[in-house]
Amino acid sequence: IAPDDSLVHALRRAAAETPERVFLAYFDGRLTYREVDELSDSVAGHLAARGLERGDRVAVLLQNSPHFVLALLGAWKAGAVVVPVNPMYKSGEVTHVLRDGDVAALICSDRAWESYLRETAADSPVRIVLTGCELDFQTRNDARVLSFERLPQADDTDDLTTVARAGHKAPQGRDLGPSDIALISYTSGTSGTPKGATNTHGNIMYNAERQRTGLDLPDPPVYFAMAPLFHITGMVAQLGACLNSAGVLVLAYRFEAGVVLDAFAEHGPHYTVGPSTAFMALAAHPGVTRDHFASFRMISSGGAPLPPALVEKFRAGFGPYIRNGYGLTECTAPCASVPPGLEAPVDPVSGTLAVGLPGPETVVRIVDELGQEVPFGEQGEILVRGPQVVPGYWRRPEATAETFPDGELRTGDIGFMDAEGWLYVVDRKKDMINASGFKVWPREVEDVLYTHPAVREAAVVGVPDGYRGETVKAYISLRPGAETDPDALAAYCKERLAAYKYPRQVEILPDLPKTASGKILRRELRSRVNNG
Ligand code: ATP
Repeated sequence: IAPDDSLVHALRRAAAETPERVFLAYFDGRLTYREVDELSDSVAGHLAARGLERGDRVAVLLQNSPHFVLALLGAWKAGAVVVPVNPMYKSGEVTHVLRDGDVAALICSDRAWESYLRETAADSPVRIVLTGCELDFQTRNDARVLSFERLPQADDTDDLTTVARAGHKAPQGRDLGPSDIALISYTSGTSGTPKGATNTHGNIMYNAERQRTGLDLPDPPVYFAMAPLFHITGMVAQLGACLNSAGVLVLAYRFEAGVVLDAFAEHGPHYTVGPSTAFMALAAHPGVTRDHFASFRMISSGGAPLPPALVEKFRAGFGPYIRNGYGLTECTAPCASVPPGLEAPVDPVSGTLAVGLPGPETVVRIVDELGQEVPFGEQGEILVRGPQVVPGYWRRPEATAETFPDGELRTGDIGFMDAEGWLYVVDRKKDMINASGFKVWPREVEDVLYTHPAVREAAVVGVPDGYRGETVKAYISLRPGAETDPDALAAYCKERLAAYKYPRQVEILPDLPKTASGKILRRELRSRVNNG
């Protein structure tokens, strides 16, 4: 076995070298590397005995819990391709994924099975079901990992906990190599029907290793899983990087600011990765103190725009510098990030914070509409080629050819590069607002709004306008206790932006709609306007 061909090999190596080290910490429960190796072997043995073949798809619909990790590693040990499913998906979205992925087995919580998945899966290719009780933070005081109370076992499923504890041996001959597909990751759907990106084990190992190197964390490093594991950022930059360094992974079900801060105080993590909205929520929590961040050596933001004002507010208020990183599901999380020890520059003209430098063996090009490379400083579409770029979309030859011509990823993002190689993401091509023929990039307006002390979250979209074609509208949520009004916010932007860019409409909402991975859904805000 080449030790680093896949995360399964990384687990086997850690279980051999440091068997009694804690791998997973979940509220009061702990599982060591040896236990996770044995329990996931047993899950693999069970799946194989139920008829799961090498290359079959296993959907995992779970929150950040030990169950997720056992399901993932167990399915891989059975030679399967894992389809991580967002637990926030509604029935119709799950049906799409189960059918599109031609999924043979489903692993989910017993609560989700009882409430809607039994019905949903009935109309799908799923023939093997494992359910388990995921303890959530509301019942944390009763926590004993893999030994807590659960719903009565449904007749039509097997219990994940029992299966994991049964001592089955993993099947032989199902080893996976770097070019095998590890995941079918459905894109979060901020831009339409989710498509399945096929992340290989090689893609994952490359980025997991890249995320780990240079961090200078203590041994063993303690990672806090802030991003959901079903999302590629959580999977690679937290679980993957942690497993590759035989670290401790602290799990806390799903993001809830108060619970996360308690976990920081309890476990003293050294590193975490989350979307910028998670850091905004932590900074706005009434109980937060500087001490909560005392153990951190590094914090990274990934998968969503990072306003420069947040980086400064965070450093001043809590200490850590938030390191930016840019990536897509299609490039297995990051393709550019800020190397440890450096700070991202801010572009003096637009005020945009750089997302980072492209990783080694990664080539980022900026091209115009004709596909010609543009000079430094000029905007164009970002294209990426490298070991983390997926081979394509699952069973979508046309979409694959369109998005990955000749293996190079067309990101759909507009950006530019400075003469030193720093990459800046301006915005998504399709989010551009055309106001009387002027181009407005929502991010630039959002970055200004984030400098306002009352603003917690901001999202800017184009809305139809009889005179201008489109006009700029800002949706805002406020920090707790802050007071301001739409006119004041519009005036604040007017002072700082060209006349065609400032939001002529501002609406304050209690909260902005987000994906489960924490990204603000501009699409949902736009449809709010269109639906009146
Ligand atoms: P869908 O493809 O269905 O719309 P999605 O794009 O939200 O879903 P992801 O792959 O999670 O799914 O998101 C990638 C996108 O997130 C990038 O294309 C980019 O627009 C944005 N993004 C990621 N990191 C950053 C960053 N550091 N700064 C700005 N934008 C970022």
